[in-house]
Amino acid sequence: AKKTGPNTIRFYDPAVQAELEARAELERDLRLAIEREEFVLAYQMQVDSLGRPIGAEALIRWEHPTRGRISPGVFIPLAEETGLIVPIGTWVLHAACKQLVAWQTLAHTKQLVLAVNVSAKQFQQPNFVYTVANALVVSGASPYRLKLELTESTVLGKVEETIARMRQLKTLGISFAMDDFGTGYSSLQYLKRLPLDQIKIDQSFVRDLHQDSDDRAIVQTIIAMGRALGLNVIAEGVETREHWRFLNEHQCHAYQGYYFCKPVTAAEMEKQCLAPPPE
Ligand code: C2E
Ligand code: CA
Ligand code: CA
Ligand code: CA
Repeated sequence: AKKTGPNTIRFYDPAVQAELEARAELERDLRLAIEREEFVLAYQMQVDSLGRPIGAEALIRWEHPTRGRISPGVFIPLAEETGLIVPIGTWVLHAACKQLVAWQTLAHTKQLVLAVNVSAKQFQQPNFVYTVANALVVSGASPYRLKLELTESTVLGKVEETIARMRQLKTLGISFAMDDFGTGYSSLQYLKRLPLDQIKIDQSFVRDLHQDSDDRAIVQTIIAMGRALGLNVIAEGVETREHWRFLNEHQCHAYQGYYFCKPVTAAEMEKQCLAPPPE
């Protein structure tokens, strides 16, 4: 580090420089990824209290031509910062609706509801309602089979706008889940006011259920509160039989996690839907 003034310190760190360049390159590639058709959706089954398939969450995957598969945990934050999440999110909506139509033609998948993640910036686009309606119309998918997962960051500082927009979408038949529930702040304010259908207990509360009595208390409370408010409650990150047992005992409505099914291709999930549910 070199001192250039009383308050500025400049770093000439080759590691930092390399990191900045790698990031710029990733951003360039991300810009091209849609037209190069490098994105695919993975699907993770959601089940009811008897372990029967009721739906799936669509999770985006990026097959980079040279670097292989890049995790959404890496490129979604970059897409959000650069605004690329808007076209990427539109691609996800179209791909998800197309999959819904395919499922609507199969006896054992036609009831499945598909949950799609929506970023705050995407939801706040003035034409978001149009974008969703358009994806439904173009594909012919039923709006009653589409669920949008929002996070608390979607609502932050824009409660009235969010409520108005959610109402418009609900009029079309679409439902809403609050993702990562319990990890943001003001959760209860939002919970009371937003026209939600479901809350999704964050996997960080589920992970250590067997070791951590605080997590057990939190999970029980979220389920009881959700139920009291007439909301459907789903738990994510259900990895073990113990998780499943505990959540089931406390009357969680729906479940998602490696215990039932990993995120897989649509074809693979369809096969899994025919397999008997776990005990
Ligand atoms: P999320 O919405 O909270 O999705 C759940 C994440 O948990 C997924 O990671 C999923 O693969 C993982 N998961 C599922 N079951 C288990 C389990 O039993 N144990 C553990 N440890 N993990 C489990 P993934 O697919 O890497 O996605 C990461 C995040 O990227 C998502 O978190 C979501 O925030 C974002 N994301 C993924 N697809 C999209 C998308 O299409 N649009 C937007 N805006 N964000 C997306
Ligand atoms: Ca999600
Ligand atoms: Ca989540
Ligand atoms: Ca999460």
